[in-house]
This record gives sequence, C-alpha cells and structure tokens, in this order.
Amino acid sequence: MLLRFWLIFLLPIALLAAERNILDEEVVNTQQLISEIKRLDKRGGISNSAEVVAHWQQELALIQQRNSRFKGRAACREFAVYAETQEVAERYLKEAQSVLDCYEKLFPRTHFLPASPAQILIYGNEQDYSKYEHIPAGIVGHTHAMRSKKMTIVKRGSLYSIEPVTNSNIKDHRLATYRQDVPYVFAHETSHILTYELVNPGRMSITDVETSLFLNEGLAEYFSAQLYPDGFEKRLEVLRETYGITPQTIESQLKEVALEEQFSKMRDIPLEDYLKRDAYPSGAEILQFYSEATLFVQWLMQLPGGPELVSALLVTPDPQQMEAQLRHHQRKYNLPVTGWAQYQPYRKQVLLTPRKIQAADHAP
Ligand SMILES: [Zn+2]
Repeated sequence: MLLRFWLIFLLPIALLAAERNILDEEVVNTQQLISEIKRLDKRGGISNSAEVVAHWQQELALIQQRNSRFKGRAACREFAVYAETQEVAERYLKEAQSVLDCYEKLFPRTHFLPASPAQILIYGNEQDYSKYEHIPAGIVGHTHAMRSKKMTIVKRGSLYSIEPVTNSNIKDHRLATYRQDVPYVFAHETSHILTYELVNPGRMSITDVETSLFLNEGLAEYFSAQLYPDGFEKRLEVLRETYGITPQTIESQLKEVALEEQFSKMRDIPLEDYLKRDAYPSGAEILQFYSEATLFVQWLMQLPGGPELVSALLVTPDPQQMEAQLRHHQRKYNLPVTGWAQYQPYRKQVLLTPRKIQAADHAP
C-alpha cells in the first residue's frame, strides 16, 4: 500500500519537473513584461516608455536568437541541460551525473533532489556565453541559486521601476558555461550547486550561511580534479611557477636539496587571510588563490574523516572557529592536535615532490 501511495504521488511531480523549459520561460516572461509596460503606458504611467520597450524588445530578440541555436535538451530528475546539439546536451547531462555520483559518495548527506531540475545552459563558445548571459570577459562559468524571480513592474511612489521579484518559494539552480574539450569548468560549477545543497539542504532552503570563498572554490576544484586528475597537477604547476619551484625534470630531482633551500625562503601560506577573504583577488593572484585553495582542500579531504571535517568547516563563519573545529577533529581521530600547523609540511611536501615522469603516462 505504501509503495502505491508513493508511485501515485511521485510520478506527476517527476513529469512536471522534466517538462519545465527555461528557454521558453525566459521568452514568455519577457513578452509579458513588454505587454505590461505597454498597458501601463496607455494609462500614461510611464514617461520614457518607448525607450524602455525598445530595450526589452532587444532583450527578447536576443533570447529568441539564443533559443533558436539551442536545439538540444536532455533532462533527468536532477538536471536539465540545454545545448546547441542533442549530443552535447546528453554528454553534459552525463557529466553532471558523474559529478553528482562522485559528490554523493563523499558527502552522502547531500541527497540532491531539487523541486525542479537544475537548469544548465551550455553555450557553443565563450563569445556566445558572454553575449547572451551578459557576462564580462574573463569569466568562464557561473552558477546561482535563488528563489524563482521574474522581471516585474513595481510602483514606487509615483514612479514605476522594473525589478526582479520573487514569484515562487522554490529554490532554483541555474548554471551557464560554454563547451570545452575537457569539461573541467563544468564539473567545478556543478560542484558549486551541490555544495550549496550541502549547506542549504531541502527544496526551499536558502539560508544566509556564507561559506568561505576559499573553501568553496577549493572544494569545487577538488571535484573537478577527481574527475580530471590532470587539472590538479596544473594547479600545482601554477604554484610551483609562482614560487620558482620546478621539480619536473630528472636533473632537478637530483637537486632536491637545493630546491628545499629555495623553498625554505618562502613563507607558510597565511591560511587565516585566505579563509576570511570575501572577494576574489584580481589579476594573476586569482590563479594562485584557486591553486592554494585546491591544495588545501585536497589536504583536508585526505585526512581521516576528511569530508565530515569539510562539511563542518563550510558552515563555520570565522577562521579561528574553523581552527578550533580542526583541533576537535584532530583529537577525535587521534591526529597531532596542532591546528593549521599540520597543513604546512603537507603543502611543502606536495609542492616539492617532483612529478613522476613515467613514460607509461604518455604512451597511447
Ligand atoms: Zn567557482
């Protein structure tokens, strides 16, 4: 009896979820907005209406132009992927599921079952992504979670303004990026969705828990690296280059002592500064930030009970409290109770260890 109850009630929800189409929704919402502006204009409510209508008509044309290119759509209970071809949509749907499998293995608490599938847009190239998503150059992918919003006309005093207004209590995830040969960025962005769920579990939950940018980015990189291990090695290379360490050739392996000396001139990483950053560094420093984050989360995750520790740290607001959490964890797992100090030798050791040159790696 119980089984029948679930079948009857879950089936319609699953069908509804799969049918949602964000491309159509964006067209309908913009059309409705334009009619509403025109309707108010007839009553003399809007002063520069011709300009406003022209702006939104341009937006609408852009959305329609984009939609005419998105010919592929593949969806499951958790994700709906839109892409230029069906083949690409299906490939990225599989990628999303691989990230989810990998994530749920390490964080079984995640249980990603959104009320509506996370909406994923895969553009054909970087230019299209920037153009249609209104994204500044240099950004390669983004994701956000919010309650469903609609651009609506709001009256403020005697003036009208057009603002995004929440129209549903359900949490929506939207991810956009562009197609790449190795979907490293895509895996990174999908991990952000899942980390958001880990911190805000449930279909409606949008808490104001601010996770540390450093941990959040490091964790997203960690999962990309799990699926594409070369990515982690690239992150390490960035750090080695920044610090002038190049233990990559056989000759340099022989000079390990000299490298150790070179490295000893370098300061330990100021972890607390990194952990409390609430904005991205600019310029070349950003790569260093991501690379340090990757290495740090890699260390946390390989500790006994690592994922449990990372889950706890994600919702701890302050670096000092985080260190107290770490000490608690070290005590629980009979590790040396040294706080962050335990990390520094690990970091040095990983950065100093020459990458193994194995002919087998390069064999076809
Ligand atoms: Zn990120």
